[in-house]
Amino acid sequence: MLKFTDTEQHYPDVKAAAKRKKDFDEIYAPFDPAEAAVQAERCSQCGIPFCQIHCPLQNNIPDWLKLTAEGRLEEAYAMSSATNTFPEICGRICPQDRLCEGNCVIEKGFGSVTIGSVEKYITETAFASGWVKPIGGISESGLSVGIIGSGPAGLAAADILRRKGHDVHVYDRSDRAGGLLMYGIPNFKLEKEVVLRRYKLLKDGGIHFHLNKDITDWAELHEKHAAILIATGVYKSREIEIPDYSLGGIVQGLTYLTASNRKGLGDKVGEFDSGVMNAEGKEVVIIGGGDTAMDCVRTAVRQGAKKVTCLYRRDRANMPGSAREVKNAEEEGVQFVWLCAPKAFAGKKAVSQILVQRMRLTTHDMSGRQSVVPVDGETFPLACDMAIKALGFDAEDLPTMFNAPELKLTKYGTLDIDSKTFMTSLPGVYAAGDIVRGASLVVWAIRDGRDAAEAMHAHMMAAQRGKKAA
Ligand code: FAD
Ligand code: SF4
Ligand code: SF4
Repeated sequence: MLKFTDTEQHYPDVKAAAKRKKDFDEIYAPFDPAEAAVQAERCSQCGIPFCQIHCPLQNNIPDWLKLTAEGRLEEAYAMSSATNTFPEICGRICPQDRLCEGNCVIEKGFGSVTIGSVEKYITETAFASGWVKPIGGISESGLSVGIIGSGPAGLAAADILRRKGHDVHVYDRSDRAGGLLMYGIPNFKLEKEVVLRRYKLLKDGGIHFHLNKDITDWAELHEKHAAILIATGVYKSREIEIPDYSLGGIVQGLTYLTASNRKGLGDKVGEFDSGVMNAEGKEVVIIGGGDTAMDCVRTAVRQGAKKVTCLYRRDRANMPGSAREVKNAEEEGVQFVWLCAPKAFAGKKAVSQILVQRMRLTTHDMSGRQSVVPVDGETFPLACDMAIKALGFDAEDLPTMFNAPELKLTKYGTLDIDSKTFMTSLPGVYAAGDIVRGASLVVWAIRDGRDAAEAMHAHMMAAQRGKKAA
C-alpha cells in the first residue's frame, strides 16, 4: 500500500469520443486484474478515511482496497457487498468526484485512488466467478411486506427485508423493474443488462415482483401486508412557462430518455419511430444543467443530432451535474452556453428558434449556490428544431395518488417521515428514496432503502413479540 508517490493515478481506458458517439454502449473498459491491484495499492490506508466518511453508504473502502491489492478478491467482494446492495451500479454511476474520490486525502497533489472503478472491478469479478448468489438459507418470519416502487430504494429495502425472512412483494406501475436505473439513466452510463442481472438475482431470492401494477389506493395493500414502504421516486417534471412553450418539438427530458432506453431494449416506441422523440438530424437545445440534462445531450449526440447545445442559466462552477459527465459531453461535441436561459420559444407549429436571455450571477442563496438575474437587454436568437426541458423534478401529489389525505407532506411536497423510524403519518407505512429526499442520487436511495428496511424489521418484530406476549 501507500504507493501513491510512485504510481500514477490511472482510470480504466475510456473509448475515444469519435468511437463512443456511434453507439450506446458503456464508455469505460473494465480494469484488468493487474491494473486494479496496482491502483488499489496507491491507497495510504488513512486512520480517518475521508473517502469512507463521504460515501453515503460508509463503505469500508480502505479495507477492500487492501484486499484487492493483495489479490483477495472474494473477501473484498464480501466486504464491499456488506454495506452496498448494488456495488456494481454505484461503481459505475456514483458521482465519485463529489463523494468518495473527491474526498480522498491524496486527491490534492497525486490524484485520488480510483475507488469507483475498483468497486466495479471487484463486483464484476465476483459475478464472473460465481460468488454472487441469490438470497438463500433464510428462516421465514411469516410476515409479509409490500414495497411500492422498484427503483434503487425499493430494491435495496426488498433485499434486506427478504434476507430477514419476510415475504416481500414489490409493486411497480412500470413494465420493467429498476425505476430510473432502467428508464432514466442511459445505457452508456449503465448498461441495462447490469440492472436486469440484479433483478433476476432478487427474483431468484424469493422476492415477488408485481409489474404493470399502478398503486392508486394504499389501503389495497394495507390488508395484505404487515408493513408498506413507499419508494415511488419523484416524477413531476418542472416547467418553464415562457411564451410558446407548448409548440411542437419541445419535449420533456425524462420522456425523451425513456423513449431512447426503451428503443435500446428492443421495444416498439411510436414516438421515437415518428421522429418526435428522435434527435437525428436536428439542431437540439437542452435546457438545464443536472444529470438529466447531461444524459439528454449525450443521448442526442448518439442519435445523430446535427448540433447539440446545452443552455444553463448558471456557470460551469455552479452546475449540479457531475463534472465528469460535463467533460464527457464536451469531448463528444456538445456546446455549452453558460449563463443563459430561454426567454421565449418561436415557430409556426413547431419550435424553430429560442430567444435566449443572458444571465449573471448574484449573491449566494440559502442553499449556498449563487442566484442568477437577467442581464438587461442582452438576448440573442438560437436556431432549434428540438428543445428538451431538463429542469428537475418534484413529487407527485401522493395523498391524492394513494387516496390517503392523511399522508403528511413536507413544504417541498415530499413525504414527511420520522427520521428515526422512517414511518410516514400513516401507521405501518414507511417511505424512502427520492420521494422523501427530493431528486437525489442512486447511492442515497440505496442507503435510505436499507435504513428504512432495518427500521421496518425492528418495528414488525417488536409488534410480533408484543402479540405473542399478549
Ligand atoms: P426511482 O428510481 O424513481 O423509482 C421509483 C419507482 O416507483 C419507479 O419504478 C416508478 O415506476 C415506481 N412508482 C411510482 N409511483 C408508483 C405507483 N403509484 N405505483 C407503483 N409504482 C410506482 N443518480 C446517480 O447517482 N447517478 C447518476 O448518474 C444519475 N443519473 C440520473 C439520470 C437521470 C436522467 C435521472 C432522472 C436521475 C439520475 N440520477 C442519478 C438520480 C437517481 O436515478 C435517483 O436518485 C434514484 O433512482 C432514486 O431512486 P428511488 O428508488 O427513490 O426512485
Ligand atoms: Fe464511492 Fe459510491 Fe462506491 Fe460509495 S458507493 S465508495 S460513493 S462509488
Ligand atoms: Fe485510501 Fe484515499 Fe480513503 Fe485515504 S482517503 S483511505 S488514501 S482511498
